[in-house]
Amino acid sequence: MTKPSADVVIVGGGLAGAATAYFLATEGIKSVIFERDAVAGHASGFSYAALGTFDEDGMTGAHFDVASHGMRLHRELADTLLEETGVNVEFRERPSLSLAFDEQEAESARDPVGLGAVRREWEIDRQGYSVTWVNPQEAREIEPRISPDALGAVFTEGTSDVNAYRLTLALAMAAEKRGSELRYGTVSGLMRDGDRVTGAIVNGAELPCERLVVAMGPWSQAASDWLGVPILMQPWKGQILRLRLPGSPIRCSVGGGDHFASTKPDGLTWVGPTFENAGLDESTTTEGRDEIMAAVVKNIPSLAEGRLELQTACLRPLSADRKLILGAVPGLEGAYVATGGGRLGLMMGPAMGWLTSNLIVKGTTSVPLNEFDPGRFA
Ligand SMILES: Cc1cc2nc3c(=O)[nH]c(=O)nc-3n(C[C@H](O)[C@H](O)[C@H](O)COP(=O)(O)OP(=O)(O)OC[C@H]3O[C@@H](n4cnc5c(N)ncnc54)[C@H](O)[C@@H]3O)c2cc1C
Repeated sequence: MTKPSADVVIVGGGLAGAATAYFLATEGIKSVIFERDAVAGHASGFSYAALGTFDEDGMTGAHFDVASHGMRLHRELADTLLEETGVNVEFRERPSLSLAFDEQEAESARDPVGLGAVRREWEIDRQGYSVTWVNPQEAREIEPRISPDALGAVFTEGTSDVNAYRLTLALAMAAEKRGSELRYGTVSGLMRDGDRVTGAIVNGAELPCERLVVAMGPWSQAASDWLGVPILMQPWKGQILRLRLPGSPIRCSVGGGDHFASTKPDGLTWVGPTFENAGLDESTTTEGRDEIMAAVVKNIPSLAEGRLELQTACLRPLSADRKLILGAVPGLEGAYVATGGGRLGLMMGPAMGWLTSNLIVKGTTSVPLNEFDPGRFA
């Protein structure tokens, strides 16, 4: 009897792992995703999942290229996945209003330089994308419930959102339809022959494979010993509240500072998130709930009338230097890492999977990955 084996083992059934399996499958390469918990059971199932928002820390250089490509793929996948799996990933245009409450915030938002070089670059890159300053009256025409204390807002059109859980699940399902497999199991190491991967240790047993992709999100640091290079992660916990509000849905994503509110297609208004340095702790807290409510009520006072339906907490897979960790592991043929999406991992996830697949299939990528070298922490 031949021993079971796999061409490619993917460790982790979050968006990074599912997208890698999907794009490999479209190239005819069958993989096995091992997930120890549940597909989309962590950040990839509970993310706020805003797409096309800007974080100037994380959106320069090659990150910008990955994010731009990620946005193109999101648009395509919305249709393709519906055809291939019947799952509607609820991708939709979702403009955002970012409120300013003091003169300093308003001044820097009105100043075209204050809007940021990255935003302008993005604006040029995508037709139909626009970032404008709106006065309080114009802002209230867009969403009447914003605070009367707002001095105005940056109104961004061209941004969107998606259902993170459905997207991750649909990618895994579509990969399965093309012959890939999803199995439950914990990967705790790999086998090697000199400088070449020859297998994965799954639930304590050896599974021969030629290639292995670490897509373990915030837990990727645990692979350092197997890979022979340190993978340094500093996860950032995020909590979100889902509220049932009286009245009509909020018309766009409304935020101020780091907190946002948006009514999702399920009719619940998601508010949050928190940014907490809590290691690998994923528990919800009353402090998190109170912090979110205090922040979002400042933007839309009537959110205080919402009934709390669900509170979630999960971890953003942020690397120690806040850059993606994406590419081949130096010195270990057949080993790859796809993680570090941090707070923009939903936007970049499809592109992370596509680039990893390209690397495996063609040995090269259209976006240079040097900046994201998994060996850089050595
Ligand atoms: C509150 C919050 C809001 C967010 N909002 C946005 C947003 O608006 N826009 C955006 O772009 N991004 C957002 N993000 C970020 C985004 O959700 C993440 O970057 C992305 O989902 C990470 O996907 P991943 O596949 O890398 O990791 P994960 O989703 O964490 O998946 C990793 C998987 O690996 C599995 N695993 C780990 N170790 C093993 C092992 N040894 N064996 C088998 N399986 C293993 C885990 O069980 C897990 O399922 C948000 C995140 C949070 C927490």
